[in-house]
Amino acid sequence: MSFQVQGKDLLGRIGTLTTKSGSFQTPHMFPVVDPNRPVLDPKFYSEAGIKAIMTNAYLLKRGRPGQLPKDVHGTLGFKETVATDSGAYQILEYGHVGVKPSEIVAYQEKIHTDIGVILDFPTGFRSDARRAGWTVDETVRRADEALKRIKRKDILWVGPVQGGVHIKEVARSAVEMGKRPFSIYALGSPTELMEAQRFDVLVDMIVAAKKGLPHSRPLHLFGAGHPAMFPFIVALGCDLFDSAAYALYARTGRYLTSDGTQELAEIEEFSCMCKICDSTTPGELRRLDPSVREKLLSKHNLLACFSELRRIREAIRKGHLWDLLEHRAYANPAFEKFLAKIVQHSPFLEQFTPTVKPRGISHFGEASDHRPEMVRYSVRRSRVPVEWGKALVLLPGRWRRPYHEDPRNLPIVSKLANKSNVSICFYTVPFGPVPMELDETFPLAQTESFDSHDSRMYEQKAEQVAAWVKRLSPKQVFLVSEGEYGVTLGREFSGATPKLKIIRVHAKGSKPDRTVGSIIRRLG
Ligand SMILES: [Zn+2]
Repeated sequence: MSFQVQGKDLLGRIGTLTTKSGSFQTPHMFPVVDPNRPVLDPKFYSEAGIKAIMTNAYLLKRGRPGQLPKDVHGTLGFKETVATDSGAYQILEYGHVGVKPSEIVAYQEKIHTDIGVILDFPTGFRSDARRAGWTVDETVRRADEALKRIKRKDILWVGPVQGGVHIKEVARSAVEMGKRPFSIYALGSPTELMEAQRFDVLVDMIVAAKKGLPHSRPLHLFGAGHPAMFPFIVALGCDLFDSAAYALYARTGRYLTSDGTQELAEIEEFSCMCKICDSTTPGELRRLDPSVREKLLSKHNLLACFSELRRIREAIRKGHLWDLLEHRAYANPAFEKFLAKIVQHSPFLEQFTPTVKPRGISHFGEASDHRPEMVRYSVRRSRVPVEWGKALVLLPGRWRRPYHEDPRNLPIVSKLANKSNVSICFYTVPFGPVPMELDETFPLAQTESFDSHDSRMYEQKAEQVAAWVKRLSPKQVFLVSEGEYGVTLGREFSGATPKLKIIRVHAKGSKPDRTVGSIIRRLG
């Protein structure tokens, strides 16, 4: 087995996972197949390029009483990677106590599964902290027992992390499970959280698990199957997930898209152009026999999931995963909360984001201020050596980058840059203050941003500029003022730094040569 990482952005990564039956790309969603009621012909998976599916070992065993275990690949008619879940949830649900943890391990070995899960003890959504703690201990105990019983080393074994909504327990569980030699780790119990849209808790759970587990191994999130969520959970470091949502949604006439769920009953035209949507209309689909409709909708739903995974991988390659999160957050208010919570973990995400990207980044608005590249930039800025007591010239940072190459800035900069008693700084929309020393560093010159002329944003950025200026304690400040941003900055200085000597020079209507002339004349 191997897990090779080919690309990274935020905590998300593109990888290749190899099992005894083949390789597949991650992030990956295992379509969950009901072994007793398969909705789709397994040929469909191969045609769609889906190289790994999942089924439930417990349901498989229960549905075939008295039969000898058979190769699961034959049972499902699928030659490539088959993962099996241990059925811990079903056992809880049916109160079935006749299956021992060691039996489920042995059964998964006999059916030649490629990826097997030990029989953990799910914490569930409603457990109190004490109960959650117990499920963590019990899962660790079962993990140790399973590890002793495991004979087949060619199967990738999954170690589930429990703890539910109790973040401290999740952290403890991750550290304990992380010490044990599993090929893959998994995070349990989030399905109900996702259904209740408690994304804030989900984010904390995933981050807590991620911090405790070895980063070289893939992390599986149980039960995540809505494409709209994928960018968020991938950004937090989930490489694998599994779901039957594509089929369950199809059964009730629900149509999955990357933006959310639609009701088939309400769709007039399909915007998707997958094989299914391209060959029928919503009206025709509605008139079909329910079982045929269910099949076709399941296929579309699955393709929508895999199309989203492609989009995510492409975003990782380009270093644009954060941009994708922002798009989703703007499109759906429920996801705004998701992103707001991720923002709180931005310094952690920053550690895993490449320092140089193949392409620049985008700055759309406030949420972009927290993207790891911006966090990194403000740290770097705080480390720029300060020489006190110089004159500071503040110039508007317009769209042209590097900011000093702006034709209206260049004549000013070239006359002042070699003066030992002057420092230069640009006031910009995406980055706030940009000292000349950082003007040519990544990602400043490569950032796409736009000025929304939002007064609140100007105020926030002006505050940052004023704080930076205060730190320099300059002898005098020349504010080359332009537009509302310049006015806001002037106002901010008179409020926040009343002792500073601010000289306002109007940029508009003045030729750069005259502006620099007047600055040089007044240099003290
Ligand atoms: Zn479609």
